[in-house]
Amino acid sequence: MNTIVANKAEKALGDRPTTTTSDYKARPNETMLALRWYGDKDVRVEEVPVPTITEPADVVVKVTGTTVCGSDLHLYHKEILQLQKGEILGHEFMGIVDEVGSEVISIKKGDRVVASFQIACGKCQFCKEGLTSMCDRTNSSALQEKLYGKPFAGLFGYSHFAGGFAGGQSEFVRVPFGCFNLLKIPDHVPNEKALYLSDIVPTSYHATVCADVKKGKSVAVWGLGPVGLLACKWSKLEGARRVIAIDQIPERLALAQDMGCDTIDFSKQKDLVSEVYRLEPQGVDCCIDAAAFRYTKTLLQSAERLVGLETDSSEIPNETLRAVRKFGTIAIVADYAAMTNQFLIGALMEKGVTYRGCGQAPVQEYWHQLLEKIESGEFDPTVVLTHRFSIEELSDLYEAFDKKKFGLMKTYVQTRFSPPPSTGTPQLSTLSRGDLKPVPAV
Ligand SMILES: [Zn+2]
Ligand SMILES: [Zn+2]
Repeated sequence: MNTIVANKAEKALGDRPTTTTSDYKARPNETMLALRWYGDKDVRVEEVPVPTITEPADVVVKVTGTTVCGSDLHLYHKEILQLQKGEILGHEFMGIVDEVGSEVISIKKGDRVVASFQIACGKCQFCKEGLTSMCDRTNSSALQEKLYGKPFAGLFGYSHFAGGFAGGQSEFVRVPFGCFNLLKIPDHVPNEKALYLSDIVPTSYHATVCADVKKGKSVAVWGLGPVGLLACKWSKLEGARRVIAIDQIPERLALAQDMGCDTIDFSKQKDLVSEVYRLEPQGVDCCIDAAAFRYTKTLLQSAERLVGLETDSSEIPNETLRAVRKFGTIAIVADYAAMTNQFLIGALMEKGVTYRGCGQAPVQEYWHQLLEKIESGEFDPTVVLTHRFSIEELSDLYEAFDKKKFGLMKTYVQTRFSPPPSTGTPQLSTLSRGDLKPVPAV
């Protein structure tokens, strides 16, 4: 299904009811920079109206830090249904509270906050149970309901498939249910350590919870993007006996090695699964699939994706099913979207595997405890932070990040409201004319 068909289908189905709107009112005569989607590999930084309080529970945040996520590349490649031209992308951001609605009591103007990537109402049954990423009242996508049975929560900047909310790759963001979807950050925690509580810190932690990672167990992680690498880190902190980190990019494998992981470069292995068994003769207790559905190795799967016979590849799921220990656990944190072929369902049954979809991580359920670990120094998310850029360069950054150039891993994207880089974090760089250069200090 392409975006045109998806948008037509949504129109025919009619939006699901929600308890907040995804539109925003504009402040008169004020504009801001924001990254907008226009088509396959076509995103542009443009001047758009600044949002103002649209609903009484809203907070407007002046952004001091944002970033690009691996999952934004699915949008960049037009692989998410219901994208619409002009949508503002970005779901990981932090900033200073600039305006609050009449119902906002626990947050005030001037507070320093980080936003959850999901928009949860805080009141429905799922929110009350702590399953905030499954909030039932913020995603208007009837198409997702039709496809999955029930949709997940609305997300910032992730197409109308996720509710159509304007995102955080911008200078201001309207945050619905601000009291619930923003976390106050203590002054002594620098921006570069707080920003990633938006998504990758809770998401990577959630993956280890879902994979049942415990002291003394063995763990293998497929895909060493920021989430995969931080999942390695959490597993080590949890006391895993061995963590096997799998990727093909040398810088990423080196980072995993620094964390004390065993590493496998899959591009150099004829048979990845036998290599896993060489390290763990009984198979791995806990497998985490943190790669992405777009990456195919065989001709068959590539061809099937190309002609639309499947949307997602089953190659990595099948590797995890072969490599997992009998009665072991596999957690999928990679964002699979729809259908796959050649799935090795026999191994799932016959090996007694617990095969668990992580879902989007319920950020609000974890972020207090994870902030404590960051404050105490036990966990430092900046191990994956490699570069800093300005919001004006977001479009070039998407291109470079997509091509995995310059060793880009996790970036910090500053705005005109950002303080200078904190000690020990990357200085500002620029991507002018396709090359990476440091920006000289003034
Ligand atoms: Zn993300
Ligand atoms: Zn809810």
